[in-house]
Amino acid sequence: MTLTITLLGTGSPMPSPDRAGPATLISAGDEHYLVDAGRGVLMRLAAIGLGAPNLTAVLLTHLHSDHITDLNDVITTRWVMTFGPTPLTIIGPIGTQHVVDHIVASLEPDIGYRIGHHEDLAYGFTEINVIEVEDGPIDLSGQVAISCAPTDHKPVHPTVGFRFDHTDAGGTASAVTAGDTVPCEGLDRLCAGAHALVHTVIRKDIIATVPIQRMLDTVDYHSSPQEAAQTAERAGIDTLVLTHYVPAISTDDDRADWRALAAQHFSGAIEIGDDLHQIVIAPT
Ligand SMILES: [Zn+2]
Repeated sequence: MTLTITLLGTGSPMPSPDRAGPATLISAGDEHYLVDAGRGVLMRLAAIGLGAPNLTAVLLTHLHSDHITDLNDVITTRWVMTFGPTPLTIIGPIGTQHVVDHIVASLEPDIGYRIGHHEDLAYGFTEINVIEVEDGPIDLSGQVAISCAPTDHKPVHPTVGFRFDHTDAGGTASAVTAGDTVPCEGLDRLCAGAHALVHTVIRKDIIATVPIQRMLDTVDYHSSPQEAAQTAERAGIDTLVLTHYVPAISTDDDRADWRALAAQHFSGAIEIGDDLHQIVIAPT
């Protein structure tokens, strides 16, 4: 069976009218895994006919705000759009339980209002099962095998990337979501032999010219398109999917520039897309 990658949000912390915050959907059949939950994620999911109740699990690469801004929306909307207990599994690095506990605490007034007003919600709030992960396989008992490895986004720590492998009679289709990271051993290991790599990137060559220290600070803990391409090439990846464009890509010339930088170091297919761009990975 094919694995479908949907770029739900290709933006960054800077609000954009065109690009939602970081979020990627990995789908195989009825299983839908949401990787990160940035700004506007449920609007983008709605655009492909899906909602919070359809998510098999939410996986967080790290706890930077732009990757989790709308996790509260996913949690609440899953609850109010279902008609019986619908537990939600959230996977993330050490620290995820703490963040989820505080999000749920912030929702306490809303939870009280809704239970008080809707008799059919008396069964209570969504049960959230947080699984904190560091390295190795993650057992979700689905058709898609999921594993993770540590990445390097220091001083943001810990952070993880995820790999999805779907195997059937036709073979295996596999994709890795790197999240924010510089090239590192854990990501190399996760990517080895995978078909696709979805990698967040920033244009360090452009950001280095911006005389704002807060922007300059971002250069040392992200990958450039060239570095993402080198990681993909080392691992034998077929398709490199770039996302999290900083600065935002707005013209065909921009797109060509980004592609050319990656192509210097990578011989496979390069995907650079807007929100809702989909890539279908065939099994081999
Ligand atoms: Zn980050």
